[in-house]
Amino acid sequence: MDYVPPKNLLAGRIILITGAGDGIGRAAALSCARYGATVILSGRTTEKLESVYDEIYHAMTTSDDGLSRPAPSSTMSPTIVPMDLARITQADAQQLARSIDSQYGRLDGLLHNAALLGERLPFEHTSIERWQEVMQVNLHAPLLLSHALLPLLECSDDGRLLFTSAGVGSKPRAYLGAYSVSKYALEGLAKLIADELEKTSKVRVNLINPGSTRTSMRATAFPAEDPQTLKTPEALMPLYLYLLGPDSRQEHGRTFTEDTFRRLL
Ligand code: NDP
Repeated sequence: MDYVPPKNLLAGRIILITGAGDGIGRAAALSCARYGATVILSGRTTEKLESVYDEIYHAMTTSDDGLSRPAPSSTMSPTIVPMDLARITQADAQQLARSIDSQYGRLDGLLHNAALLGERLPFEHTSIERWQEVMQVNLHAPLLLSHALLPLLECSDDGRLLFTSAGVGSKPRAYLGAYSVSKYALEGLAKLIADELEKTSKVRVNLINPGSTRTSMRATAFPAEDPQTLKTPEALMPLYLYLLGPDSRQEHGRTFTEDTFRRLL
C-alpha cells in the first residue's frame, strides 16, 4: 500500500483498540503508538497486553540509535484494560467510559477489532450457547462499547469509530454460521450509526474488512492453508492508520478493503 503517513500522524490522539493482544489488533496497537497515539490496550489475556505494552514502552524510551530517552508522561503511556467481551455488561462499558473520561476527557478513536470465530459446523449441529457467545463478542460487545463511548468520541475534534468486518459479512460462508451472521449484523450496526451521525457529528464511522491475513484466527478457520501465502497484519497498517487518522476525514459509512484503499490512492 502506497500511503505513507507522516511520523506524527496520530500525535495527541487517544485510541482504544479491542483485541490488542494478538493478530491484527496487536499490529494496530504497535502501529498507532509508533505514529504518536496514546493507546488503550483492551483484550482478554492480560499477559498478551503486557507484552504489547512493554514493546510500546521500550520503543518510546529508546531512540533510533539505541540510546535511552526520558520516560513518557503518564498521558502518553499506553494503558491496559483487561476485558472479556464474552462477559461485558452495559455497566462495565459505562465504567470504562467514566475512567477514560477522568483520565483523558475524550476519545479520538475506537477500533473494534476483537472477534471470535466460533464453531465451524453446519447450522443444524451448532451449539446455541456457542452461537450466542460469538454474537456477544462480535456484535453485542461492540454495540455496548460504542453506546457508552460515543459521547467521548463526540468530545474529540476528529473522532473515529472503526468496526472490523469480514468477507462473510456480506456473503455468508457455510459452516461459519454465527461468525458470518455476527459480521452481517455488525455491518448493519456500523452503517446505521454512520447514517445517524452523518450530518450531526464530526465522528466518522467506517468498517475495515482486512481480508485473508496471517493470524491465529485465520489458521483456525483454514487449517490446510499455508500461512506464508498470506499477508501479515503489519502489511495492513497503512489502511488502519489512514482510517484512524486525520486523512480520512471525508470517509464515512464505508467498508474498506485493501482493494478499495488501493483505488483511493
Ligand atoms: P486473532 O484471533 O488473531 O485475534 C483476535 C483478538 O480478539 C485476540 O486479541 C483475542 O484475544 C481477542 N478476543 C477474542 N475473544 C475475546 C473476548 N471474549 N474478549 C476480549 N477479546 C477477545 O484474530 P485476527 O487478528 O485475525 O482478527 C482481528 C479482526 O479481523 C477480527 O474482527 C476478525 O473477524 C477480522 N478478520 C480477520 C481476518 C483474517 O484473515 N485474519 C479476515 C477477515 C476479518 P486473546 O488473544 O486474548 O484470545
